[in-house]
Amino acid sequence: MKVNDYSGNRVIIDRSALRHNYAILKKKAAGKEVLAMVKADGYGHGMVECARTLEADGCNYFGVAEAGEGLRLREAGIKGHIIIFLGIPQVWFHLLTEYKLTPVLGSRESILQLLEYAEKQQQTITFYLKVDTGMGRLGVAPENVEEILERVEKSSFLEIGSVISHLARADERESSATAEAIKSFEVLKNRFSDRISQFQLANSGGILFHKESHFDFVRAGISLYGYYPDGNSHTCCEEKERLVPVLRFVTKIIQVKAIEADRGISYGHTYMTDKKTVVAVLPVGYGNGLSRSHSNRGYVLVNGQKAPVIGRVCMNMTMVDVTAIDDVKVGDEVVLIGSMGDQIITADDLGKTGDTISYEVLCTVGNNNTRMYMD
Ligand SMILES: *Cc1c(COP(=O)(O)O)cnc(C)c1O
Repeated sequence: MKVNDYSGNRVIIDRSALRHNYAILKKKAAGKEVLAMVKADGYGHGMVECARTLEADGCNYFGVAEAGEGLRLREAGIKGHIIIFLGIPQVWFHLLTEYKLTPVLGSRESILQLLEYAEKQQQTITFYLKVDTGMGRLGVAPENVEEILERVEKSSFLEIGSVISHLARADERESSATAEAIKSFEVLKNRFSDRISQFQLANSGGILFHKESHFDFVRAGISLYGYYPDGNSHTCCEEKERLVPVLRFVTKIIQVKAIEADRGISYGHTYMTDKKTVVAVLPVGYGNGLSRSHSNRGYVLVNGQKAPVIGRVCMNMTMVDVTAIDDVKVGDEVVLIGSMGDQIITADDLGKTGDTISYEVLCTVGNNNTRMYMD
C-alpha cells in the first residue's frame, strides 16, 4: 500500500463503465470522432488512467484545460492528440512542439503571436480556432473568421486543425440558444469547409440531445463518466443504451454509539436528538468533497438503507442516524455515491442537496480522496 491508501475513504473507478459509456457515445456520434474531455483530472476520475483506458479502446483525441495537464498526459505515454482548451501563454509556446500539444486559440492577438513564433522556429504548428457562437466566453466573433483565415493561410508554418465552438445551453432539450448557435456554426461550415476540414461544436448535451450539433467531431465530458448533463436522464432509454456512472464513493464507520434524547450533535448543535439515537461517525467531511450543505439534509447508505446526516458536516467527519438500521458496527462499509442493496445515490442527488451539479460533485469527491481502479 502507498501512504495515501491508509484512509477509510475510497473512490472506486470502474474502467468497464467508462468503456461502456465511450462505446455508447461513439454510437450516438455515428462514426464521428469522439474527443474525450479529461480536464480537472478526468472530472475527478483520474486523467491518466481514463486516457489510457480510452486510448486502448481507440480514442485518439484528449481535451484538457491547461498545458501542464497536457505534459502529464504525454509523460504518462499517451500518444493521441492532446488539445489545450484554454490556449497557452506565449512564454510556453516551445511546449507545443516539444510535447506535440494542440492549443485552442480564440483571439487575434494570440494567433498572431503563435504565427510569429512558428515562422521564427520554421516549425509547423497546428491550432484549433475557437469561435464564440453565444457562450460569451473564449473565442473570436464569427465575422472575424475570414480575416484570421486569410492571415493564417499566408503562412506556411501555421495550420488550423479544427474550427470549434461551445454550446451554452445544450443540457436543455429545447433551447433557442442552441438552435441559434448551430445555425451560426452551419453558416461558418458552409462558407469555409473547402479551407478547413473539421468543425466541432457538441459537448455531452449536444451529443445526447441535439443531433444537428454533431458536425465532424464531438467532445464528450460528463457523459463519458456516466452522467447526463441535465441531471435527470438516467431512466432515459433501454438499459443497454444507458450511460453508467463510473465513480463510486465509499467509507467505513469509525464509531457507533447511542446518544440520549435532547443532546446536540456536531458543531453548533444544529441537530438535537428527539429520542435515544444511535449515531454512526464517518471519517469523511467537506475536506473529502462531501459538501457542508449536506448538514442535516443529505443521507448515506448503511446496510443497504438510507441513514440521514445529522448535525453539521465537519472537515473530516460526518454523523449519521442509524437508529432504524439493525446491526450497525464499526468498520461497516457506507456508500456516499453508488448503489447498495436496492438503493442508489448518484452525484446528481448529492448535487441537488448541495445546490450544485454532478460535475462539481465528481471533481471535488474524486480529486480529494484516494482512487482505486477496477474492471
Ligand atoms: C468541458 C468542456 C466540454 C465537455 O462538456 P460536457 O458537458 O462535460 O460534455 C466540451 N467542450 C469544452 C470547450 C469544454 O470546456
